[in-house]
Amino acid sequence: MERQKILVTQSSMPTLDEYVEEIKSIFETKHLTNMGPKHEELQQQLENYLKVKHITLFTNGHLALYSALKTLDLKGEVITTPYTFASTTHAIVQNGLSPVFCDIEKDTFTIDASKIEELITDKTCAIVPVHVYGNVCNVEEIEKIAKEHNLKVIYDAAHVFGVQYKGIGIGNFGDMSMFSFHATKVFNTIEGGGVTYNCDDYTRKLNLHKNFGITGPETTEAVGMNAKMNEFQAAMGLCNLRHVDSEIEKRKKVAMEYRKRLQDIKGIKLSAIQKDVKPNYAYFPVIFEDEFGKSRDEVMEQLAKNGIFSRKYFYPLITDFECYNKQYDSSKTPIAKYMSDRVLTLPMYADLSLEMVNEICDIIIGGKK
Ligand SMILES: *Cc1c(COP(=O)(O)O)cnc(C)c1O
Repeated sequence: MERQKILVTQSSMPTLDEYVEEIKSIFETKHLTNMGPKHEELQQQLENYLKVKHITLFTNGHLALYSALKTLDLKGEVITTPYTFASTTHAIVQNGLSPVFCDIEKDTFTIDASKIEELITDKTCAIVPVHVYGNVCNVEEIEKIAKEHNLKVIYDAAHVFGVQYKGIGIGNFGDMSMFSFHATKVFNTIEGGGVTYNCDDYTRKLNLHKNFGITGPETTEAVGMNAKMNEFQAAMGLCNLRHVDSEIEKRKKVAMEYRKRLQDIKGIKLSAIQKDVKPNYAYFPVIFEDEFGKSRDEVMEQLAKNGIFSRKYFYPLITDFECYNKQYDSSKTPIAKYMSDRVLTLPMYADLSLEMVNEICDIIIGGKK
């Protein structure tokens, strides 16, 4: 019998019984969406879990980020990173804003705060950094720059569910943070997302955007969209939230085993372990430098031949996308380009066995064809 394929990720799920129990009441109330009881309960539980003052839920992370930017009523240029998922840049562009790309740090893959100021012009209105792979951006330096230049900061926090910096929930930094609860993330509501923030005024605007701008039976105040999280999504979230701590514990074991096997190998570079950060082990990126002897693509192919599927995440860079490469030049962010050309994210999920981790490492390190 052929071995089961090992994919780069596997969604965390409750048991069928637990989910069925959770959705029973929906079949009684027939309240399927539009901020029902499950939605309200999940919202409150997430505020507690993430240690934030407010969270507004959305049907996915992208529309959450889009709406966060919309709420701040921005105009002009936004400094951001090319080393991210399509969503970050698309949300900026879809708001009529112009992305300006800043290079990243080699150790953490996050925006290099020391290179932000040189990109600021009189048109700059905001910074949109990304906490890549669960690594925390240089939040202190970014805050300092933003204050000095009167810029808004909206974090793409899609990868950092449950992460804390100096004991503070990561969603407290900047003006707003967007979390994604997509199936592939550390915590999922199948599809889903949320915006966290401290300013009370944002709640009303975010709710407007996610429900067509409707404020009452006969009042529609804004040209909003439909981005509401439904009750079945919220029910999945309520179930998954009960298990997320133990899922992160299991991910930690996987990450530790990978580190043990790969950290001393010449030509292999791993993501930094950050001081003062409570991590979530969302991804396991590996950089294959030239002295390793095998290229990233060769390693990927060898793994695939053995039924193990890694991912070039993030490759290509945003600035090399067909929809952006005529306007932007990826050679202007050389570190991002370097990392993107050499990175491979290895399979990482709570139920990945340590035996499998070792098999993956054997293939990477050894000559196994
Ligand atoms: C997943 C992700 C998003 C988008 O979230 P969705 O919930 O899939 O819409 C945005 N940014 C980053 C970095 C992501 O990984």
